[in-house]
Amino acid sequence: MSDFDVVVLGGGPGGYASALYAASAGLTVALVEKEKVGGTCLHRGCIPAKALLHAAEVFRTVSHAGAHGVRLPEGVEPEPDWPAANSRKAGIVNQLHKGLSGLLKRRKVTVVNGWGRLTADGAVAVDGQNLRGRAVIVCAGSAPRAIPGMEVDGVRVVTSDQSTNSEADRLPERVAVIGGGVIGAEFASVYTDLKVDTTLLEALPHGVLPIGPDRDVADVLARSLKKRGTTIHAETRVGTLEQTSNGVVVPFETPRGSDKIEVDQVLVSIGRRPVTEDIGAAEAGVRIDQRGFVEVDTATMQTSRPGVYAIGDCVGTPGLAHVAYAEAMVAVDHILGENPPPVDYAKVPWVVYTHPEVAWTGMTEAEARAAGRDVEVHKHAMAGNGRAMILGETDGLVKVVAARGGPILGFHLVGPWASELLHEGYLAVNWEALPSDVGRLVHAHPSLAEAIGETMITFSGRSLHG
Ligand code: NAD
Repeated sequence: MSDFDVVVLGGGPGGYASALYAASAGLTVALVEKEKVGGTCLHRGCIPAKALLHAAEVFRTVSHAGAHGVRLPEGVEPEPDWPAANSRKAGIVNQLHKGLSGLLKRRKVTVVNGWGRLTADGAVAVDGQNLRGRAVIVCAGSAPRAIPGMEVDGVRVVTSDQSTNSEADRLPERVAVIGGGVIGAEFASVYTDLKVDTTLLEALPHGVLPIGPDRDVADVLARSLKKRGTTIHAETRVGTLEQTSNGVVVPFETPRGSDKIEVDQVLVSIGRRPVTEDIGAAEAGVRIDQRGFVEVDTATMQTSRPGVYAIGDCVGTPGLAHVAYAEAMVAVDHILGENPPPVDYAKVPWVVYTHPEVAWTGMTEAEARAAGRDVEVHKHAMAGNGRAMILGETDGLVKVVAARGGPILGFHLVGPWASELLHEGYLAVNWEALPSDVGRLVHAHPSLAEAIGETMITFSGRSLHG
């Protein structure tokens, strides 16, 4: 006898998407969550971080208002208002949390508060109560990785969990960001734009987004950050931090020698780890791999125990909320006895919400060449795009990687609204469109998207403005 059709362990994007989608298909669902539904994405990650990035954007825009023909009163300089930015951010998070809670209620999802663990007989135990489902979906999520020996005190040394939840009444004046990946780059962008003295310390040879995007687009972001004032060190080894009365001293080594900086705050953003230590995996016969991820068959999202599924950050697929949403649909469809198409991980959309934004899907040029593909590559700078000029944001690039005479393999963007423009390329890559298919489609004028059309047309050997 099952109490529910599906029991979901964890209420982040993977968990709530599983619950909502299963309920929409008429299944009865229990959702176990130890804190608030919404998880890292809503409470400590995507949403608050993007709200802070937006505050930085407004400050940047107002600071340049004069160039756009809007005069500030004589002698008036705009200033960041950190408490106001944080309270707006908190308001958005609260509103989304309320909306999500209401939606779960309307779909008749039973939300159970507490820490859930899988049991040997395939149930989920929460505070002495056993929830039985025909299927269980584990969505245990992830937590920031720590640097061994570096204590995170939440004040001087913080992770993104604390930075996104800051209730500090003022911005730090000097920040060191350890790790130039997605989180490091986004926070470096926020702090730099808000006039915080920002130093980015990255272990790998490229200081900004060393893994993931095509170098051509990542380099545009790196150049923009540098131009705006971020100090970037690549190939950096950070030493033992030293607390002083004024802040924290961060010693580091690069191929150019040893150095140290004193800052008010250190943000550690060196990646995230799955939270799978205490979910009862061993008891339930759910295999965990050496890195701590739940092992799944990505064709169905089923774990080594039939009937138990796992999705989202606790499995080793890209740690993105929208990937968790897609995996939730695969798991639930499979529970419903269907044969869903699996997520094509090599072609999911990636977006870094820095200024300028970076977005991509599919293969980078280097990946395509390393895979032995004969490729044709065309790029189009945003510099000549009328809409970009009107916005005053001409730092940008469209880059398309296609098989020679064949379909589009990779689509790479940097520049204004890359996050939104990406989805045209996403469709093209996933539908295996030819550049000529997209090049013949009409792009509105004036628009940023015209740069995409222009790039596709260039594959024909002819061009309009490009
Ligand atoms: P990440 O893996 O993107 O980047 C971590 C970076 O830290 C890497 O460049 C790595 O080389 C570097 N690093 C590791 N150890 C180091 C050390 N000791 N010293 C200096 N550098 C070091 O991880 P993240 O930025 O922490 O993000 C974590 C996860 O959150 C990712 O899975 C990411 O996909 C997700 N996320 C996504 C978005 C988005 O999609 N916009 C935003 C935030 C977070």
